[in-house]
Amino acid sequence: MNLAGKRALITGGGSGIGADLARGFAEAGAAVVIAGRRLDALEAVARKTGAHAVQADVTDEQSVSRLFMEAGPCDIVIANAGAAESAPFARTSLTQWHAMLGVNLTGTFLTFREGLKQMQGWGRLIAIASIAGLRGYPYVAPYVAAKHGVVGLTKAVALEVAQREITVNAICPGYVATEMTDRSVAHIRAKTGMNQAQALGALTKTSPQNRLIEPAEITSLALWLCSADARGMNGQALSLAGGEG
Ligand code: NAD
Repeated sequence: MNLAGKRALITGGGSGIGADLARGFAEAGAAVVIAGRRLDALEAVARKTGAHAVQADVTDEQSVSRLFMEAGPCDIVIANAGAAESAPFARTSLTQWHAMLGVNLTGTFLTFREGLKQMQGWGRLIAIASIAGLRGYPYVAPYVAAKHGVVGLTKAVALEVAQREITVNAICPGYVATEMTDRSVAHIRAKTGMNQAQALGALTKTSPQNRLIEPAEITSLALWLCSADARGMNGQALSLAGGEG
């Protein structure tokens, strides 16, 4: 994979999947811009990968617009920033609902829209959705709704740009070995009294492969979506979850 001459923008680049995407795209020769709210975390990734770090909140229209003004036209835009909170549905507050839709769905909308406005010729829009964008899970209804929304957004935008050299796809991972999953394990432990292995096991057992996905597996798929061989792959929600769903 040679992405020399291409600029890739990755939101939520300060940790987890976003940090690994920055590594992978930089190794492939792309000029990488990482964006997120926490400048210290972004700068740590920037030092390791050579990426350019820009502070931005994907839920804020002006912030995303400023981000793309600073980044300049990007060939590859990866809407990766996201968050997951859990609660029984009947006790889910409107604030939690808005927070989940804000970062996961509106964040992807703003990132894709501003990225597409500047896209010249060849381009790739990639959303890091979730297997929760393809099927339901208990106790995370707003997250599931938001990620289903991301998949719908991806399919719609893909059809609008299909006549151009641009594709739009969503990657839908199962549980990934990142801080987000660490937080879910801690939450299960606090709520149930399970030990670390039991709480982790409660998550991994949802996968037929009984394991977490590694961030590098997502990076490899995202890189492939940027290859010439993947030019026919458009409007797809690609499950990367060991057969789950
Ligand atoms: P993570 O918590 O390490 O990364 C999420 C990143 O998004 C963080 O750097 C966070 O600071 C950033 N972010 C959150 N709100 C933001 C905002 N308003 N503006 C800008 N940045 C913001 O978790 P991760 O696992 O690397 O998650 C990355 C993406 O992958 C998310 O969209 C998540 O929903 C998705 N995903 C994760 C898993 C998993 O099991 N970890 C599974 C499927 C999908």
